[in-house]
Amino acid sequence: MGHDWVTHQIENCPLDDENQPPRKIIHVDMDAFYASVEQRDHPHLRGKPVVVGGSPEGRGVVAAASYEARKFGIHSAMPAARAARLCRDLVFLHPDFMKYREVSRQLRAIFEDYADHIEPLSLDEAFLDVTENKAGLPTATAVAKEIRRRVRDELRLTCSAGVSSLKFVAKIASDYRKPDGLTVVPPERVLAFIHPMPVRKLPGVGPATEKRLNDIGIFTVGDLAAVPAADVHRRFGKHGAYLWRMAHGEDPRPVQSSQPRRSQSAEQTFAEDIEDRRTLERILAGQAERVCRGLESAGLRGRTVTIKVRYGDFTTVTRSETLEQPTNDPFRVAEMATALLDRTEAGLRPVRLVGVGVGNLVGREETLQLELPLEFDD
Ligand SMILES: [Mg+2]
Repeated sequence: MGHDWVTHQIENCPLDDENQPPRKIIHVDMDAFYASVEQRDHPHLRGKPVVVGGSPEGRGVVAAASYEARKFGIHSAMPAARAARLCRDLVFLHPDFMKYREVSRQLRAIFEDYADHIEPLSLDEAFLDVTENKAGLPTATAVAKEIRRRVRDELRLTCSAGVSSLKFVAKIASDYRKPDGLTVVPPERVLAFIHPMPVRKLPGVGPATEKRLNDIGIFTVGDLAAVPAADVHRRFGKHGAYLWRMAHGEDPRPVQSSQPRRSQSAEQTFAEDIEDRRTLERILAGQAERVCRGLESAGLRGRTVTIKVRYGDFTTVTRSETLEQPTNDPFRVAEMATALLDRTEAGLRPVRLVGVGVGNLVGREETLQLELPLEFDD
């Protein structure tokens, strides 16, 4: 019984090859993201207690709280009514997800200068595998410093970063000196760093598991590490075995970069140039229908509709419009495509090709989060 026995309980988690050097992982987390973006863009809100989400009349919940608001004990997921009672001068703001998404894209573009393997956890948080970094910087710490500097200079926002050979340790580390902090945990320091932490800090330990662990005298990660593996497995099953491995400084999960589809489109070149605007509208509507069917079957919706028009002389223009809420409704997309056609010379000049695309795609889950602003931010 012991370590190897536990290892075999963990499915789909191959062990690191011991001959491989440790991975270098950075976890970056923006500080009070939504609230900070609003304070950046509205200077009169700086230095003030601000929350995004909820209403002063007490409807809804707080999605993000500025650090000034946190001094009053206000935090994300708190009912707005309670937040309003805690701070009389609290400023409530409507979330502007279009803007937060745009900042998130800018953040992603910075990450892409350093890493190919990027795993976003939300709009403002991601793991980066910088075992090999694309900028040729000497260390992961140097990459983290550079990213933090660029976020400050280019986005005029602050973030916190954690650096470790293990994902869960990088995530705990990014939280360690928040806001605007950097914590580096080299492999030989992992156990000293995690053992004094409350077990609650381990991923997957919510209030219920925490209570069950506390009930048997396990309060810190170090307490968990000291319990025989078989005991943990018997009481908590596979999940417990995984927690035990983490308490021993193991986390085999790689940074999972997903390369989501960025857009879906259809286009058509005509045998003969078309001058009749109505005909072009009908063709765009058919293309919108096909694109939306593809999105629907992939469980995706998009926020940006783009049309492409190539004139008889081969000059090509594109026109785009971005919606507040993502869609895959063919009528909505066709309607937007027709409106975009007004911003071209279709109907006035011969047209050789038209196409329509839907971009800025989000999955079902994300769509749901957008509709119900429940994407909390810390
Ligand atoms: Mg954050």
